[in-house]
Amino acid sequence: MAFNPRVRRYLIIFLIAGWAISLSYFFLRSNKPSRHNQKTTRFYRDNRLLMGTFWEVVSPDKRAGEIVFSETKRIEGLLSKYIPESEISQLNRIGRLKVSPDTFYIIKRSKEFWQETAGAFDISVAPLVDIWGFSDQKHKVPSIDLIQDTLGLVGSDKIILHENDNVVEFKLSGMKIDLGAIAKGYALDCAAVRLKEKGISNCLINAGGQVYALGKGPKGNWRIVIQNPRKRQVSGIIELEKEESISTSGDYEQFFFDKGKRYSHIINPKTGYPATNDISSVTVIAGSALEADALSTAIFVLGKGKGEELSKRFPGTKIKIYQ
Ligand code: AMP
Ligand code: MG
Repeated sequence: MAFNPRVRRYLIIFLIAGWAISLSYFFLRSNKPSRHNQKTTRFYRDNRLLMGTFWEVVSPDKRAGEIVFSETKRIEGLLSKYIPESEISQLNRIGRLKVSPDTFYIIKRSKEFWQETAGAFDISVAPLVDIWGFSDQKHKVPSIDLIQDTLGLVGSDKIILHENDNVVEFKLSGMKIDLGAIAKGYALDCAAVRLKEKGISNCLINAGGQVYALGKGPKGNWRIVIQNPRKRQVSGIIELEKEESISTSGDYEQFFFDKGKRYSHIINPKTGYPATNDISSVTVIAGSALEADALSTAIFVLGKGKGEELSKRFPGTKIKIYQ
């Protein structure tokens, strides 16, 4: 059966989420009261469509879902390029804007990742994402001339940050930024802060396949299923430590075929073409969801060798590469 790319994307995301959901459900159901402890903790689950994906929250505290969803909605309202009033949409239209501390922080961190990844992670790829049709889902292979012209607008060194008044400015008109590779991670970190402020210490958040684990699940550390997205096979079960996030980037999420060649939504900012290398997806586990999100995208661009080298510079980070 053929699905349009947007529907297909949701189906794939749902399948990935589905694995995690079914397994965590199994663990919840199997949490029988022991003979010595007749009281079991009840875990609540709640879900919502946010940031273009399916979010699920599991926690013994009923309030967790609403706390996570309202914080994510706030972050989405600031950072989404699909919401015309968001700060990112305004900045992309005007080229200079005084922004909120959240927006300033995430752009600053993105510039740091640009430096640390030798330019593989670059939020200024937005005009390239547009010409390949990944913003409006009208996928097409652009002409070489258009790719070359558009590359002139790319480079995070051309994003100027005025620290004293939180103003962000683009050096060239026509520049745009896209936080699609890092915003979900940031939202997860912010949601975790809000949960802890409210005294909630046990919660699992699954944001369309990127997961954040806080505290413990029904049987100790939270456990989630990892599947190789291309092969649709379960490739392992991972136990997350008490404050850890797992993020996967790959060519299975958004892609199209042209003349038998596969083009995916992660762009190599050096060439202007969708990244092609020896891997189909990469999974990163890190203490910060923002870091896991940014690194998984960057490693997908860099490929196996350089990607592994990069991860060594982030202590405590674990990676798994699927070829
Ligand atoms: P992710 O699924 O987290 O790997 O993010 C992929 C999304 O990030 C894409 O859909 C684009 O919106 C954006 N993007 C594409 N290429 C890059 C890149 N090289 N650096 C940063 N963001 C990118
Ligand atoms: Mg990412």
